[in-house]
Amino acid sequence: MTYPTQPEASHFIDGQYVEDASGTALPVIYPATGEKIADLHAATPALVDRALEAARRAQPAWAAMTGTERGRILRRAADIMRARNRELSELETRDTGKPLQETLVADATSGADALEYFGGLAATLSGEHIQLGEDFVYTRREALGVAVGIGAWNYPTQIACWKAAPALACGNTMVFKPSETTPLCALKVAEILKEAGLPDGVFNVVQGYGEVGAGLVSDVRVAKVSLTGSVPTGRKVYAAAAEGMKSVTMELGGKSPLVIFDDASLEDAVSAAINANFYSTGQICSNGTRVFVQDGIREAFLTRLAERLKAVKTGDPLDETTNFGPMVSERQREIVEGFIAKGQQEGARLVAGGGRLEGEGFWIEPTVFADVEDHMTIAREEIFGPVMSVFGFATEEEALERANATIYGLSAGVFTRDIARAHRFVAALQAGSCWINTYNLTPVEAPFGGMKMSGVGRENGRVAIEHWSQLKTVYVATGAVEAPF
Ligand code: NDP
Repeated sequence: MTYPTQPEASHFIDGQYVEDASGTALPVIYPATGEKIADLHAATPALVDRALEAARRAQPAWAAMTGTERGRILRRAADIMRARNRELSELETRDTGKPLQETLVADATSGADALEYFGGLAATLSGEHIQLGEDFVYTRREALGVAVGIGAWNYPTQIACWKAAPALACGNTMVFKPSETTPLCALKVAEILKEAGLPDGVFNVVQGYGEVGAGLVSDVRVAKVSLTGSVPTGRKVYAAAAEGMKSVTMELGGKSPLVIFDDASLEDAVSAAINANFYSTGQICSNGTRVFVQDGIREAFLTRLAERLKAVKTGDPLDETTNFGPMVSERQREIVEGFIAKGQQEGARLVAGGGRLEGEGFWIEPTVFADVEDHMTIAREEIFGPVMSVFGFATEEEALERANATIYGLSAGVFTRDIARAHRFVAALQAGSCWINTYNLTPVEAPFGGMKMSGVGRENGRVAIEHWSQLKTVYVATGAVEAPF
């Protein structure tokens, strides 16, 4: 059977679609209905080798182009992506189940932003000149070589672009492995880059389960690994990369605090808590899933939140009025349900949701727990689903200590009208991305990444260039060479 969403083939290697049906079957399921929408195959070792070889071969010529030339291709790809936004957003919705209302503004558009931003930066990459009397030193900013990108399933287009754009801007080539749960969108990114003029072999996509990723990470041809995934996977990938002394970027999970003081705008704080827990059905790494609300406004917060939850609209994710989608997979729904059951067993008060929604597909209600205590499982572990935990607190000191009492350090938010407190508080938060009076805005201009167990390195912003390139120092002598004998 052929499906409308069936890609031409499972992989994109050296500028073309490639299939090998002997690879492990990889069925693609539409999370809203549970129906199959494509049949793909994992890459065999021979195909992985072919992709790495293509990337290795293409890299010197790609790096030898001027930054302006490389950037022009990336910016052209951004334009194509924007022109095809609706089609790409519909595919993203089918791949992930996220409502079209979201994917139209948060996925291909964000990918296009990254291609445009790093396309623009490509021409500005340079080293420095250091005069030492008559001698001098100059530095060259050089590509790392062949890079591997490995993605999670929640933002398949965005993750592919957030990695490919800076990597390619710096003159690296890439082999990208999407999550096996959402394999369709990265193929479109490869197609679009080719249409924009990208030379063959510069960006390749291979599908597969964890073992394909593991094979890529340990290959000697690979100089850099960038992973978006969970902390347990991050640990394994980081260790494997260390064996080969490869450079890494790790964008991992979180259990981020959102702290709401009683002088905050209640309505804005509720909006932020909704965005920080229910956007993408809670499947966002930076989500503020520990919502600390100061004692004076906690009941008012919960009352207003309950009212706002009445506006949740489930249904066909391709209907633009739907504002809440299913979980990405049956497995992820079961994981989330396990956490909800734990929350109830451990004594948290379930104030909204908690159950499945009627019908086919992997639906689950937006869920809110109140009276959550710091020792409970739902307060400590990343759930990666639409489950908000609300905690009380009395003082700023207490909120800070409890906000930081986690192994994670991806993100954090604070709501207060007291400007001095806001800055004092974020300065003391142990988190890579902090928001004051908003949550989860991640423009490409702003560095993004985690502290503590949430990761290593940064994506986005100018600083990403540091993580996708290396410096060579060249000392130039102008006089005689002195020697002791
Ligand atoms: P996983 O960690 O399970 O998987 C991430 C990717 O790594 C997948 O492509 C996976 O392949 C692959 N993989 C698994 N094992 C290995 C291995 N040993 N070597 C190499 N690659 C491997 O994450 P999920 O896909 O479940 O995504 C959810 C997680 O991602 C959450 O923890 C979330 O917080 C995090 N995340 C972090 C973000 C950030 O920017 N900080 C953004 C988005 C998500 P396969 O799927 O085939 O197993």
